[in-house]
Amino acid sequence: MRNGERESSYTAYLKGIESSRSSLLILRYCEVDMILINMGNVAYGVRYKRHGIPQIAHVTKEIIVSSGVISSPLLLMKSGIGPRTQLTKGGIPTKVDSIGVGQNLHNHGGVTLLFSVNNPKLELLPKVEKRAFEEDLGRYHDSIWRHGFFARVDFGPQAFIVSGRAKGEGEANHPDLQIIYRLKPLLGDGQLEIQLHVIITRMKSVGSVGFNSTSHFEGEEDDTKLAIIDDKLFTDSTDVDVLIEGIKLAIKIMEETTPFQAMKLSYNENPPELCKSLPPRSDEAHGGDMQNGKRAGPHGCFGFETEVPFFTSYTNKQRTTLLTAQKIYRVKGVKKLRVVDASALPRTPNSGIFAATLMLAEKTVQEIFKEHVSEMTPPAVIPQPQQLEPSL
Ligand SMILES: Cc1cc2nc3c(=O)[nH]c(=O)nc-3n(C[C@H](O)[C@H](O)[C@H](O)COP(=O)(O)OP(=O)(O)OC[C@H]3O[C@@H](n4cnc5c(N)ncnc54)[C@H](O)[C@@H]3O)c2cc1C
Repeated sequence: MRNGERESSYTAYLKGIESSRSSLLILRYCEVDMILINMGNVAYGVRYKRHGIPQIAHVTKEIIVSSGVISSPLLLMKSGIGPRTQLTKGGIPTKVDSIGVGQNLHNHGGVTLLFSVNNPKLELLPKVEKRAFEEDLGRYHDSIWRHGFFARVDFGPQAFIVSGRAKGEGEANHPDLQIIYRLKPLLGDGQLEIQLHVIITRMKSVGSVGFNSTSHFEGEEDDTKLAIIDDKLFTDSTDVDVLIEGIKLAIKIMEETTPFQAMKLSYNENPPELCKSLPPRSDEAHGGDMQNGKRAGPHGCFGFETEVPFFTSYTNKQRTTLLTAQKIYRVKGVKKLRVVDASALPRTPNSGIFAATLMLAEKTVQEIFKEHVSEMTPPAVIPQPQQLEPSL
């Protein structure tokens, strides 16, 4: 967050230097559809489309693929790196036969519980009256330092909890459940609501991002149509147990602790039609037999949902290891090619994935810098902390 606005990697890392750094060229409206790899398995460029017109970019040093957990494996497969049978079916010549591409997809899975606040007199509750709406909007926009009702962050405190499963597996210091408190702001009249997101951060259910070879063979280019995403959420029965444990704990916190009791909360049990016949608050109603496929997949009782997004790891210990460990995130079997994005993380982190992805990117930059340092011109002046301008 900066000044009450959510940052993206573009605004945080690129926007400020885009027009001043001669070695940086950002081409917008481009979609890469193939990494070009020569007969010696050296990546030498990319083929991309800009406004629908095919173009080629050659590299002098290396290519870093960073198109995210769905598109990165797809791009590798379109370029001939993936399971040979699938590639052949899709009419793609195999450069590296690698069955690990797109495998080992991890995700965070969870539910959102809703509680109505029946004591609106509490002063801490965010509320803006209809008549003050414009005035508050002005307070947000009229200053570079955003403030007022609209500058507040909905998400409140978070708890990280070690489940019984983690404890049983000797991981008593490694939380695997996250509970996020979110106070939904209220505009005008209406019911104030608290949401609790209960999320399993280290799921054992593991899925994959597949490739629709037949569609590719028939000329389909759109990733959204080529990707076959199967995150297999809650197919591991112990994930369901962990989630139920988290749901029960969340309800207990809301109903049995003094500060929340003062809010006079009521738990909005509003299960989908499919689950209405189940005894309220039973384990089954909390998501019991999801793993048997008796419920509507990951959207069963209480609206099971995907929390933070997909995540693929190419490192699959039992099978093939695509990315080499000694040279970070280099693609095995192809020179001058790396994958650096969330898909290169070995496991889902215990919280949102974005910060970990940025750290991975920074670490890679450091490694690249070290590798090429002799060829690089060092920056003219590296500002020391005491030389930096004091922040306002
Ligand atoms: C709805 C939602 C909410 C989220 N909330 C949070 C949160 O609160 N906290 C948190 O930590 N994380 C959150 N995440 C996760 C976070 O956004 C991701 O973990 C992070 O963006 C992953 O970064 P990435 O670089 O791997 O991929 P991305 O951010 O997806 O970047 C990939 C980029 O590559 C581009 N691209 C894809 N294919 C091609 C191609 N063929 N050619 C050219 N460009 C291409 C895409 O347009 C995109 O810009 C959320 C994700 C979603 C979807």
